[in-house]
Amino acid sequence: MTVIRDTGARAPLPPFGEEHEELRATARRFVAREIAPHVEEWEEAREFPRELYRRCGELGFLGLKFPEEYGGQGGTHLHDAVWVEELSRSGASGGVAAGLNAHASIAMPPIFNFGTEEQRQRWIVPGIAGERIGALGITEPGTGSDVASIATTAKRVDGGYVVNGAKTFITNGVRADFLVCACRTAEGGGHHGISFLVLEREMPGYEVSRKLEKMGWHASDTGELSFSDVEVPAENLLGEENGGFHLVMANFAWERLLMAVGAVGAMQRLLEVTIAYAGEREAFGRPIGRFQAIRHKVAEMSVLMEASRALTYHALRLFHEGLDCIREVTMAKLVTQRGLVEIADECLQIHGGYGYMREYGIERALRDARLGPIGGGTDEIMKEILGRQMGL
Ligand SMILES: Cc1cc2nc3c(=O)[nH]c(=O)nc-3n(C[C@H](O)[C@H](O)[C@H](O)COP(=O)(O)OP(=O)(O)OC[C@H]3O[C@@H](n4cnc5c(N)ncnc54)[C@H](O)[C@@H]3O)c2cc1C
Repeated sequence: MTVIRDTGARAPLPPFGEEHEELRATARRFVAREIAPHVEEWEEAREFPRELYRRCGELGFLGLKFPEEYGGQGGTHLHDAVWVEELSRSGASGGVAAGLNAHASIAMPPIFNFGTEEQRQRWIVPGIAGERIGALGITEPGTGSDVASIATTAKRVDGGYVVNGAKTFITNGVRADFLVCACRTAEGGGHHGISFLVLEREMPGYEVSRKLEKMGWHASDTGELSFSDVEVPAENLLGEENGGFHLVMANFAWERLLMAVGAVGAMQRLLEVTIAYAGEREAFGRPIGRFQAIRHKVAEMSVLMEASRALTYHALRLFHEGLDCIREVTMAKLVTQRGLVEIADECLQIHGGYGYMREYGIERALRDARLGPIGGGTDEIMKEILGRQMGL
């Protein structure tokens, strides 16, 4: 069969325009030169150097969407999305991307969006420079999906709060200097009784109880934290007391979008590596890519990738324009996270035994991808949100 070859050249897809392409190229070069070559060593060490935050801060990657007066680049969420997509597209492991993004894109936005000027100066300015590292603490040993049931308490006392409880699965939990922490401030108030306090690691009673071992994301630290009578001054309250559930939900939209964008980048990388491998590896006297079974797998994966990209960029455009986007963000999170697991698994299959070996990075991609349908809200919770959005 003869097919007419498409050159593959494309103009930037909306919501991205030419103005984002320069950043894309810079991010791609940086990740390929200063992150990708070290990924295996950092995975092995179970952490990447803290210095990487400073380096990313110095180059402006941690402050892309924050105003210049705080040391940021004065860009928008779209610039941040370019950076996150390029991290996974250009060879950062899931753990490296998670450690950088949990700080810049998940812990800092609630402080910036809901914090006072003084709070921005205290945490956003050094955060953008990569000098102080943040984490977001919502999940607890007893509750994850059911955010309204969190049990860590913050009791009002003269001048502030006394916090008792525990958090688990916290990305950057071990090395974080500050934790944007969901606490219960009203007994039995369900989602109305949650507030966010910024806890700092030097506060007496704040303890990192464990660094957790996990299936993937090896280069990121995932911590379990405990709080015993931690005295937190009133000026560390973010936004309104008992208004924290709104903050959780606002943050989830961005976190889920970034997970979708990162997955699209990872899909692209996996496909490129696998297509190259299928063109080189020979079996039965021809490259394996010439077998229809393999060609069809690649065709199906490329459709899944482009459909994922289209939905994700669509959700990103709505979000960027301040329009309603809960459905689209939820759909994008759902389809990309499960889709990436499927693609990583098929790419491993195409690599045969070599895919199972550490040196090709494909088995790592599969392990890293498996977190997607769990973190940031599970697949089941995404389906619940969607079903309810549709009136059921
Ligand atoms: C590596 C890693 C990093 C993480 N980083 C962070 C972080 O930085 N900060 C943070 O706060 N959290 C973090 N998390 C936690 C993550 O967000 C939670 O694991 C996730 O929200 C699910 O909560 P859970 O693990 O308690 O599962 P559970 O809520 O106990 O769910 C268990 C199972 O039950 C299903 N289930 C629950 N409720 C329903 C329902 N209503 N209908 C149908 N099925 C349901 C779930 O889908 C799931 O399959 C991280 C987790 C991991 C593994």
